[in-house]
Amino acid sequence: MSESYDFLFKFLVIGNAGTGKSCLLHQFIEKRFKDESNHTIGVEFGSKIINVVNKMVKLQIWDTAGQERSVTRSYYRGAAGALLVYDITSRETYNALTTWLTDARMLASQNIVIILCGNKKDLDADREVTFLEASRFAQENELMFLETSALTGENVEEAFVQCARKILNKIESGELDPERMGSGIQYGDAALRQLRSPRRGQPQGTQECSC
Ligand code: GDP
Ligand code: MG
Repeated sequence: MSESYDFLFKFLVIGNAGTGKSCLLHQFIEKRFKDESNHTIGVEFGSKIINVVNKMVKLQIWDTAGQERSVTRSYYRGAAGALLVYDITSRETYNALTTWLTDARMLASQNIVIILCGNKKDLDADREVTFLEASRFAQENELMFLETSALTGENVEEAFVQCARKILNKIESGELDPERMGSGIQYGDAALRQLRSPRRGQPQGTQECSC
């Protein structure tokens, strides 16, 4: 089945209005820039299956759909990962990061994995926030960090993939338990099949032991 995957992760896209959250989601799902004409209806939700270190991971991504000022507890509940977005040409959106971060850590799962995205990387001439400054902020707050462009697509897939990879690492190291309530993680069909299937025998093609 085409819908076969090992894990499902719930993701959020958060940050001030106008930073490009909907465009990032659209670029990730559709692989193209969302033009102004389809601005009326905010994409609220998107999902995509990606391959992360040989695991098929279904990302179920929630966008604020223009409700930035009043996103509620229920929006955050049980999210495994988040893209925290600011606009590199707007210091105001960068200054708001601390508030978003506090909310995410308080209202989502405690172990939420967050990647900071400095979006509109293509507008370097209008830059108000340096790469260095933002990477220090990311380091201090234990966030991953990338500058992205929803317009050109640069680093968009990478942002989602890096965040998913970190979650997978945490599952493998035992730091995250997918079975804990509100983890934002579910097993998919593929993972369940693997758990149920008997242990595989020797690899095919008998190999002579040289010892
Ligand atoms: P949201 O309110 O955070 O969902 O932001 P939108 O996705 O609606 O984007 C806000 C505005 O920024 C729109 O006019 C987009 O066309 C523009 N925009 C979004 N991402 C980029 C980008 O990476 N580069 C440029 N130049 N413009 C962008
Ligand atoms: Mg939006």
